Amino acid sequence: MNHTISELIGGARRAVVKIGSSLLIDTQSGGPDTARFEAIAAALASWRKRGLDTVLVSSGAVALGRGRLNLPTGKLPLDQKQAAAAAGQTALMVAWDRALQPHGLPAAQALLTFDDMESRRRWLNARATLDALLAAGAQPVINENDTVATAELRYGDNDRLAARVAQMCDADILVLLSDVDGLYDADPGRSPGARLIAHVSAITPEIEALGGEPGKAGTGTGGMVSKIAAARIAARAGIATIIAAGAQDDPLGRLERGAPHTVFAPETTRATARQNWIAGAVAPRGTLYLDDGAVAALRTGKSLLPAGIVRVDGEFARGETVALAGPDGMPLAKGISAYGADELRRIAGLRSAAVERVLGYRRGAAAIHANDLVLEERA
Ligand code: GLU
Repeated sequence: MNHTISELIGGARRAVVKIGSSLLIDTQSGGPDTARFEAIAAALASWRKRGLDTVLVSSGAVALGRGRLNLPTGKLPLDQKQAAAAAGQTALMVAWDRALQPHGLPAAQALLTFDDMESRRRWLNARATLDALLAAGAQPVINENDTVATAELRYGDNDRLAARVAQMCDADILVLLSDVDGLYDADPGRSPGARLIAHVSAITPEIEALGGEPGKAGTGTGGMVSKIAAARIAARAGIATIIAAGAQDDPLGRLERGAPHTVFAPETTRATARQNWIAGAVAPRGTLYLDDGAVAALRTGKSLLPAGIVRVDGEFARGETVALAGPDGMPLAKGISAYGADELRRIAGLRSAAVERVLGYRRGAAAIHANDLVLEERA
């Protein structure tokens, strides 16, 4: 389906906005471009005001740190780059905090590593933290933890990191603000007739070939190649990606009013992507046996409460996929458990109010949220 950009953004509840180094650094001083930080902060605040939460992914640590540590321009050895990231990250967050403060948004830093994003349990923890930050009215600002990330195990570009963050926090849209306003059908530097592609419905090899050389888009490491790679990750997770220019005032407002951009359509819906993922779990790590009441509730699309669980088989951690069966052992559904097996054994059969008393904490009312459940096909 082809939405206009204002429909796409207007219908979103949560967005991940990524901004690249080249937009944030003042080329004269090597320090933060304060006006740019303020423009982005104002745009995020206005989205927030009307109910569109944002998670910001900000590059710029290495570039700012270079200046602070008087390191040379050009490619740095890894240890120096990591040192630059450490020294620049503080300056980056100071700049964001100052820019966001007039809008009543405290900047909240999260530095993520590749491992955080690829290990299920850490992913769940990071997701819960982001949810809590947004609920508390903070502005999450994410970067890769470059200081500890090793060369082989890092994203290296924040485009793909942002796509994974979008997937993790269940965003509707991923906005990559850049020094280019989208994907062109030829190199605009070399071919004056190059045209902006407004809508990409599928990331074909031809589209990928338009990405050109890695690292083309200036100071950052991104370039179009990593933006297309990010769009692909997002598309498969059911999330639309928008590439747009970030250099003007009010870049997000302008985008919404139709400023040039490229939209990469999602390949599937978010619900379907999630359901496919759950349904595709080949070997659930355990089985929950449910009472008749819970079976009926599940069939009408409700969540599974601890009260409806009669028995727990197997060993699994929270966030792992389990099978659900009726009292007779009939396979009923698969789902992602919000609790580990040991926890569930202690709270099976208990009403939600008693769960906290027994465990000393509670992770929401459901043992498995309705969104995390897929019913077996009924014959
Ligand atoms: N994480 C790096 C930084 O903050 C930037 C990566 C990128 O340019 O995408 O400097």
